[in-house]
Amino acid sequence: MKPRMVKYHFCPCCHRATPAQADEHFCPNDGSKMLQNCPNCQRPITSPYARFCPGCGQNYSETSLESQRLEDPELRSAL
Ligand SMILES: [Zn+2]
Ligand SMILES: [Zn+2]
Repeated sequence: MKPRMVKYHFCPCCHRATPAQADEHFCPNDGSKMLQNCPNCQRPITSPYARFCPGCGQNYSETSLESQRLEDPELRSAL
């Protein structure tokens, strides 16, 4: 019996993870688009408790802010 890799979809807004087989593309709680893999390195999400990508360290919960994310940390703290 070979181990089967279970993948999860992850909501970057409320940190909810559901098995990929549930086929949820949007979070039922808040309507956020569920992550199906790491947006940085495309590595699948294999733990329902993951908050960071084990491959590249990407913070999953920051990805929803990607478009309006400010590069300058001083500007970010000023907000
Ligand atoms: Zn959510
Ligand atoms: Zn990654």
